[in-house]
Amino acid sequence: MKILIKLSGESLSGSNREPSREYDEPTLSNIVEQIRSLQQSGHQIALVVGGGNLFRGHQLTGKLSIERPTADYIGMLATVQNALVLRDYFESKGVETRVSSAISMPQICEGYIPKRTLRHMNKGRVVIFAAGLGVPYFTTDSSAVQRALEMKAGILIMAKNGVNGLYTGDPRIDSGATFIKETTASEVLEKNLKAADQSAVALAKEHGLLIKIIAVSDIAQALDINIGSVIKPE
Ligand code: UDP
Repeated sequence: MKILIKLSGESLSGSNREPSREYDEPTLSNIVEQIRSLQQSGHQIALVVGGGNLFRGHQLTGKLSIERPTADYIGMLATVQNALVLRDYFESKGVETRVSSAISMPQICEGYIPKRTLRHMNKGRVVIFAAGLGVPYFTTDSSAVQRALEMKAGILIMAKNGVNGLYTGDPRIDSGATFIKETTASEVLEKNLKAADQSAVALAKEHGLLIKIIAVSDIAQALDINIGSVIKPE
């Protein structure tokens, strides 16, 4: 099966994040090992990586006098940076990997060509989608759903930092938050549950994409029914 994994930028910086730490070496190695293990169990893997460990557009506009689109482009560049870091970790462990960017930068990675990406996946290469959708006012959650649909992935795995699934609130802040094993996209939208961006969930619902929320430390067992939370596209 084709599996699209969404890794937030923060998941690259480990769970005990210090303000200045963008990347955590053991965390990066662990993520790569786990994805390799999932791939070795017979699946084709593509990733969408976020940029939140470096820059998020809406956070930058609060700090600097720049336009939102400019901030968003900087956020997209951050995702390219993360994709390059991940690629080298994969390749150092013998996993052939290609970075496919929505914004052309031919000196450092491929531009996004859907058929080419599919060929990489068929050849057993991991593909990392970078630069989101290449347009401002979006996030990498929406990119993950769009790429999963275009690649005809059987499932979108949203790997979270420090949370093992979907909760009624943020369990890191709200001690009363309860775990939701299975729900529908309609309920996530209606109750405004923080699974992913609303626009991403709506797109998944409309086009029948199954989403699973897991902890980044559980990627190797992502398809195990006992792991994480499932959001059905209903
Ligand atoms: N971004 C964008 N268009 C896209 C994808 C991302 O403008 O299609 C920008 C946006 O500013 C976003 C930033 O890139 O805040 C980093 O992505 P995201 O916040 O989704 O990263 P994550 O929270 O998953 O680490």
